[in-house]
Amino acid sequence: MHNAAFAEVGLDLVYVAFDVCETDLPSAIDGLRSLGFVGANITLPHKESVVPLLDETDELATTIGAVNTIVVDRGRLRGYNTDAQGFLRALERGWGRGPDGARCLVLGAGGAARAIVAALVHAQAAEVVVHNRTAARARRLCADAATWSSVPVRAIEPEELGRVAARADLIVNATSVGLDRTFKAIPLPVDMVKDSHVVMDVVYSDSMTPLLEAAHGRGATVIEGTEMLVQQACLAYELWTGRIAPVHLFRNKASSD
Ligand code: NAP
Repeated sequence: MHNAAFAEVGLDLVYVAFDVCETDLPSAIDGLRSLGFVGANITLPHKESVVPLLDETDELATTIGAVNTIVVDRGRLRGYNTDAQGFLRALERGWGRGPDGARCLVLGAGGAARAIVAALVHAQAAEVVVHNRTAARARRLCADAATWSSVPVRAIEPEELGRVAARADLIVNATSVGLDRTFKAIPLPVDMVKDSHVVMDVVYSDSMTPLLEAAHGRGATVIEGTEMLVQQACLAYELWTGRIAPVHLFRNKASSD
């Protein structure tokens, strides 16, 4: 996506991917300065461990405790989290509105879920309920989120999932379930999904995830993870270049690769 945009706009930049193991992270991050990088994206599993290696993080990234975008500015490294805003932009496009006043159920408690819960409480959702395979991680996320705003946030046990999902307006899968399409796992009892539900999956793939397929079959509004991928990338592009991202180009590229 980024290379297509750089070429289209005529920017002398190139986006490259590096596999970096945990022990090499400090030297790799320091190398961004010495090698003259404009910026970087950080992905699994380094989004949280990169934070102490940066000179500063913006307010949202500090709240979430995770960074997915770094801007190098005169040798200083500043961290941002564009997943949260990318999620809100994708929701707005797919649902035609933000989450204000909505009852929200978030599945997962990892880095993506943290960004999504932060986005939801900052956008004044009516309530946010979190369910995760590892319940203690969900409780930790909710305890943190309770300090971010006055929006009620609580973790639930598996036996409550069906009932909470049935009364939610918005359901977001922020787990990695669905990433492997050969294993048709769905992180939710879909028999309670109705046509009034909005179901979003952060997992991006070249076709609908099993969860979205099932929810779509039950008449729900579904939003694919690819749109969040596009939107978080556009926000990173804007931070690095100071230009408005050519979103159609990002979207075309994301769906064609
Ligand atoms: P993470 O920090 O490793 O968290 C993974 C989450 O998935 C945890 O809640 C984990 O539960 C849960 N999980 C994994 N396997 C599971 C299983 N078999 N059954 C139930 N739960 C399971 O990863 P992350 O950064 O949050 O990323 C999660 C997903 O979001 C990935 O697929 C990633 O590619 C995607 N993502 C998409 C975008 C986008 O722009 N669309 C942006 C960011 C991330 P436990 O705590 O119990 O392990």
